[in-house]
Amino acid sequence: MDIRIIVETSAETGERRTEELCNFSLTDQCHRELGLNLEQGKSILAQLQGSILRHQMEEISAASRTCPYCGRSRPVHDYRTRVFDTLFGRFRLKVLRRRKCSCRLGESDKLSPFAQVLRHRATPELRRLQAELGARHSFRDAARILETFLPCAKQHNTTVRNRLGKVAKDIADTEPPVCDTLSANPPTVFIDGAHIRCRPEYQKRHLDVVVGKIETRDMCRRFGLAPQAATSPASQLRRDLDALGWDARRPVTVISDGEVALPNLIRRATNGKVRHILDWWHISMRVQHVENAIKGLVQRKDFPGTTALLMTPVETLRWNLWHGKIQIAATHLQWLIVDCARLAKYDLAFRDKAQMALARCHELYSYLTNNIGSLVNYGWRYRQGLPISTSRAEGCVDDIGNARMGKRRRMRWSPRGAHNVAVTRAAVLDGRLSVSNATVAV
Ligand SMILES: [Zn+2]
Repeated sequence: MDIRIIVETSAETGERRTEELCNFSLTDQCHRELGLNLEQGKSILAQLQGSILRHQMEEISAASRTCPYCGRSRPVHDYRTRVFDTLFGRFRLKVLRRRKCSCRLGESDKLSPFAQVLRHRATPELRRLQAELGARHSFRDAARILETFLPCAKQHNTTVRNRLGKVAKDIADTEPPVCDTLSANPPTVFIDGAHIRCRPEYQKRHLDVVVGKIETRDMCRRFGLAPQAATSPASQLRRDLDALGWDARRPVTVISDGEVALPNLIRRATNGKVRHILDWWHISMRVQHVENAIKGLVQRKDFPGTTALLMTPVETLRWNLWHGKIQIAATHLQWLIVDCARLAKYDLAFRDKAQMALARCHELYSYLTNNIGSLVNYGWRYRQGLPISTSRAEGCVDDIGNARMGKRRRMRWSPRGAHNVAVTRAAVLDGRLSVSNATVAV
């Protein structure tokens, strides 16, 4: 079968043009496969892109020569060659530069009608796709994926990395659309930290990346940043809050795991208007450790003490904490500490077990006292349908931090590189990166 593809374009002026795109034959492959294969498809797309670009540039160049003030045609100054990257190939374009009109009314006009479009030397879609893939896969893999499916020019890992950096900078520089209506419910911020490997020249093993999610009743927004590299982490978070319609007079609820720096970050962003809640899951896990240690102790046959003396406070510990009865829980913990300390001292056979139980009790006790102001009635919040755990932030740690920068990936990061990936990845997951302004009717 012989195939001829012809492109017909009609300009706004009514001028029609026809160009033969390509001519090829499918005869030798008709018994092996049907339709176009990837290579043929890529080749046709690249030629089609070249043809459309050529026609488009000629049309825009011709139209731009007419002076909008006096209607006369402005003279051509020269043509320059510009390399332009698109998803469907790299093209050398002949770009027109015109002279100023003699009427001098349009003095501030750009001399080239393409100055804005060719500013980044690549289409926004290609830049977005490079950033999106670079934020999920290694830069080398992202380049390979692009090359496999698209007739784009040869991709280099450094180009993908640099484009990701620029896209991240654009995201940080662009003011998000401030929500028109202030949200009736103040937003809740779920915040957590991810630790990623740091490059050796920074002389530390790990780098902190702060990730999380801001939620209101009907909207949510993820964020990711490396505090070491972000220009102003607080103003970045403030912008995210404003984008969700935060009413600056009302406090924001922050749920975190007790790491002091995290709620402080939100405090700086909101000028102190923060209500911090300690994540229930982290408390529950520590209670579980105490329960297991004490149970291990009393279940031994030769346990010398009174079982009920240890088991009663343990059994009510979780219930008390869940219902916000902190003082009672703390008193019970102190009893346990005294009893375990006595066992560890006097009974040599139980020393190891008792010391372990003692350490667990101390751990929980100091965790609670350090966060005493952030403990709430979790049961009440749960029944009201209010969030009590950072599980949503843990999801962000996986999606934003570990998916690309996890320890298993064996890559080391600079603070700036990690920051760029975190910012871009959060935007990708929210769908904030997509720019679909052209509709195609098929
Ligand atoms: Zn003019």
